[in-house]
Amino acid sequence: MFDSLAEKLQATLSDVRSRGTLTEDDVNAAMREIRLALLEADVNFKVVKRFTNAVKERALGSDVIGQLNPGQQVVKIVNDELAELMGGESAELRFSSSPPTVILMAGLQGSGKTTATAKLARLLREQNRSSVAVAACDVYRPAAVEQLITVGARAGADVYERGTDADPVEIAKWARERAEREGKDVLIVDTAGRLHVDENLMKELAEIKRVTNPTNVLLVVDAMTGQDAVNVAEQFAEVVQFDGVVMSKLDGDARGGAALSVKSVTGKPILFASTGEKLDQFERFHPDRMAQRILGMGDVMTLIEKAESQFDETQAKELERKIRKSEFGLDDFLDQLRQVRRLGPLQSLLGMMPGLGGHQLRNLRVDEREFDRIQAIILSMTAEERRNPDIIKGSRRIRIARGSGTNVQAVKALIRQFGQMQRLMKSMQSGKMPDIGALMRQ
Ligand code: GDP
Repeated sequence: MFDSLAEKLQATLSDVRSRGTLTEDDVNAAMREIRLALLEADVNFKVVKRFTNAVKERALGSDVIGQLNPGQQVVKIVNDELAELMGGESAELRFSSSPPTVILMAGLQGSGKTTATAKLARLLREQNRSSVAVAACDVYRPAAVEQLITVGARAGADVYERGTDADPVEIAKWARERAEREGKDVLIVDTAGRLHVDENLMKELAEIKRVTNPTNVLLVVDAMTGQDAVNVAEQFAEVVQFDGVVMSKLDGDARGGAALSVKSVTGKPILFASTGEKLDQFERFHPDRMAQRILGMGDVMTLIEKAESQFDETQAKELERKIRKSEFGLDDFLDQLRQVRRLGPLQSLLGMMPGLGGHQLRNLRVDEREFDRIQAIILSMTAEERRNPDIIKGSRRIRIARGSGTNVQAVKALIRQFGQMQRLMKSMQSGKMPDIGALMRQ
C-alpha cells in the first residue's frame, strides 16, 4: 500500500534533506514534486491543494530557510501534515458502559463489509473483549450469511443468523435483544449492502440503526476504487451519521488516494485498515504511524504491538530457562518460528522497519516457503533427534530429507545453522561477547 506515493515522496524529500541550505525556490520546487506525487496517488485535488499550501506556509514561515539542517525540518513538516491529513490523533472505538457495545457495519456490496465484520470480531477478541457476537443481516448478497457463519466462527465470535428469508431489520432487532440476554460484550452487525447508494439502502440502514441503537457506526469503503470510495463516503455522510471508516483492500491499492482523502472530504477518521483476505490482516489505523511509513521512517510501534499481542510470559520464562540450561532444542526453535509467523506475512513486517519502505522492500523478496521447508525438516525428525541434532548423520539425514521432501544439503544446512545458534546462545549466557566472525567461518 502507498508504494508508489512513498517512493516519490521519499525521493523528493531525500533530495531536500541532502541540501545544506534551502532557498525559497528549493521549497517551491519540492512542493511541485509533492503536489504531482499526491495527484498521481489519486488524492482529491482540493485536498492536495490544501495540503501543499499548508506545508509550504509552514516551511517558509518557520525559520527553515537558510538554517542548518533545514531539509530535516521540511521532512518533519511533511510528516506532521500527512498525519494531520489522515486525521491527526488516532480515533478510537467507543465502548458502552452498559453492554453490549453495538457496532454497525455499513457499506456497498463487495466493499469488504462481511470480511471486516469478522476481522473486527477477531481483533476485539484478541484485545480481551470476553464475548463477541456478529449478526448476519446481509440477506441480499448471495452467500453473505454463509460466509459470515464460516469466518465469524473462525474469528471466535458467536454468529447470530436467521438465514436469508427474514427481514434484515427484524434480524438486527432480534440480534440486539439476544446479545443483551446472553450478556455479550460486543455485537457487530453486518448490514445489507447494495451495488449503489440508493434510497432503499439508506432507509434500511436508518431502520437498523434505530432498532439496534449502535455505539459506533463504521462505514467500510474499498480503497481500490480510489476517489469513488471517497464519493461513496461523502454520500453516506450526507444521509447516515457514521463515526468512522474501515478502509478495506489497502493491500491492493498502491496509490493510497482514498485513504489520504477520506478524512478531509467527509470529516470522518479512518479507524481500521484491512490489508488482505486473511483474518489477521487488519489493524488499527494510526495517522501518525502511517505518515511515517509513507515517508520510509518505519512503524516500530505497530511492530512492537503485534509482537506483544503474541507474547506469552510463561512461555518466555520457560524459554529463558531452557536457554540457560542449554536445553533449547529444535522443537523450541520451531515454536519460535511459528510465533514469528503468527505476526503476519514477513513482507509486511519488514515494511514496518525504518528505512525499508517502498522500493527497497520490493527488491527484497522474502521467500515464505523457507519457513515451510524448515518446519517440514524438523517435523520429519524423531523427538530424540530434535533434542539432540548431533546424532543426525548418514542414514538419518537421508530419511529426514525424504520425509520432508527436501534434500540432504538442506537438512545439513539447518542443523549447522541451529548449532551456530546454540553456540551463540551459550556464549551470551556465559557473559562473553560471541565471536560472530568465528561462527560465520564455521
Ligand atoms: P461485502 O459484500 O461488503 O460483505 O464484501 P466481502 O467481505 O465479501 O468482500 C468482497 C471481496 O473482497 C471478497 O473476495 C474478500 O475476500 C475481498 N476482501 C475483503 N477485504 C479485503 C482486503 O483487505 N484485501 C483484499 N485483497 N481483499 C479483501
